[in-house]
Amino acid sequence: MISYGRQFVDQTDIDAVVEALKGDWLTQGPKVEEFEIALKDKFGANHCCVVANGTAALHLTGLALGWRPGDIVITSPITFLSTANSIIYSGAIPDFVDIDSTTYTIDPNKLEEKIKTYNAQSKNVKAVIGVDYAGHPCDWEALKTIGEKYELQLINDNCHALGARFLGDTQYAAKYADAVTQSYHPVKHITTGEGGSILTNNGKIDQKVRLLRSHGITKDLKDMGGRNGSWYYEMHEVGFNYRISDFQCVLGTSQLKKLDNFVEKRREIAQSYDAAFGMDERFIIPPVSEKVDHAYHLYPLQLKFDKVGVNKNDFFESMKSVGINLQVHYIPVHLQPYYMKRFGFKPGDFPIAEEFYANEISIPIFPQLKSSEIEFVIAQIYDNLN
Ligand SMILES: *Cc1c(COP(=O)(O)O)cnc(C)c1O
Repeated sequence: MISYGRQFVDQTDIDAVVEALKGDWLTQGPKVEEFEIALKDKFGANHCCVVANGTAALHLTGLALGWRPGDIVITSPITFLSTANSIIYSGAIPDFVDIDSTTYTIDPNKLEEKIKTYNAQSKNVKAVIGVDYAGHPCDWEALKTIGEKYELQLINDNCHALGARFLGDTQYAAKYADAVTQSYHPVKHITTGEGGSILTNNGKIDQKVRLLRSHGITKDLKDMGGRNGSWYYEMHEVGFNYRISDFQCVLGTSQLKKLDNFVEKRREIAQSYDAAFGMDERFIIPPVSEKVDHAYHLYPLQLKFDKVGVNKNDFFESMKSVGINLQVHYIPVHLQPYYMKRFGFKPGDFPIAEEFYANEISIPIFPQLKSSEIEFVIAQIYDNLN
């Protein structure tokens, strides 16, 4: 079965993890900080705190930014559930702004309209989580301008876009957003099994997420009333166990060295798909804004199912029967029963996202995909259209 995504773990990764397993520290050892330093260097952030997964990174970010019950936080409906769920964790209220049909990321013009609508009702928007969907960065220039104008916090859910460039810069994320979250789940660009991080240039945010990562415990003398002995620690607020282990971090450090090659490989595959589908008007290949270089975590192909002789479900099943496991990214979050029931969203609220969902299929893209497999995927998509 060829799946839409797959990790690449080689012998150097395995050797590094085995070495770590033989060491003194399985968790809370020196490999955690080594991975943090490697991430800071790679993504150009002053601070990095690695955590158990990308969802934990989003959760702690919201808490560190001081989200309170009733605060309004906006994101894109075309994202994984945990982006929006992380808003609910802190008691804040999630809202959405439709995507731009030429980037598949949050539409800055519609965002500004929504903020103005809230302001007209004497309500303020606390924060915006931009999602660099599929590996295509949001228009961070526009988001930054809006963020400054309306005094919003900006978060980059960067899980898809490791290695992408905005205005030529691979280190864009922490420059524009107050906090950046990543995930190292096996389908993402690099993996630690489960894992994630918060990258930021803001020392206060970093300090807060570090504290909350491990139960809210501090041993730092300047944060405590005094010290009664070397065993002593204090807790000033309730935190979690969102730590990641040393052997996972070793895997992450080893994987990070391969990121540039991984992204290069993904871009080559995307080029083959662009060539195969770009000239046929039944398809829309993923557009790329001139401001960005795409990192292709996904290859979201739109197929105009109303113009072909097959519906999406049948197409999925026939592709599966020849060994190709497609996916869809994503069911718009506002259409989930929980979101409709609790927050009153309904079909039609975000029409561009909904139409995108109707058309979108994620076709296989991962570094180890062979050229024969790429040809097979292309041939099967055409064969199964009618
Ligand atoms: C994967 C992902 C997450 C969550 O990361 P986990 O490590 O699976 O918790 C959040 N947002 C986006 C956009 C993702 O792709």
